[in-house]
Amino acid sequence: MKISHIEHVGIAVSSLDDAIPFYEKTFGLKCYAIEEVPDQKVRTAFFKVGATKIELLEGTSDDSPITRFIEKRGEGVNHIAFAVEDGVGNALNEADKKGIRTIDKEPRTGAEGLRIAFLHPKSTHGVLTELCENPKITK
Ligand code: ZN
Repeated sequence: MKISHIEHVGIAVSSLDDAIPFYEKTFGLKCYAIEEVPDQKVRTAFFKVGATKIELLEGTSDDSPITRFIEKRGEGVNHIAFAVEDGVGNALNEADKKGIRTIDKEPRTGAEGLRIAFLHPKSTHGVLTELCENPKITK
């Protein structure tokens, strides 16, 4: 698979209402989008940092993966997302052929309407890894 860059870093937070002003005031970053992804039971907030983004994730229910992550480990880095050049489906097949445990069998639509798929942290040295369609970087 061909990775062009780190598309985003996903950070689990208890409250977007607390975390967004923190990122804006502390780092001078501007939140440009807040989006709910009902499929994943999360609300997300995005900040651009060069070609990479920070994705803050807040769980929207008790059984949200983000709520459970915070219960177990507290707030913090949840996943890293690589932008793949040659299609998420191809990258997922390639990972599968290499015996890497995948969370998704097929790409699905994540935040910002991008095609995504997750690899299991048990197969990736402990890092929940997202493969993400490479968005056109225009700004
Ligand atoms: Zn993500």
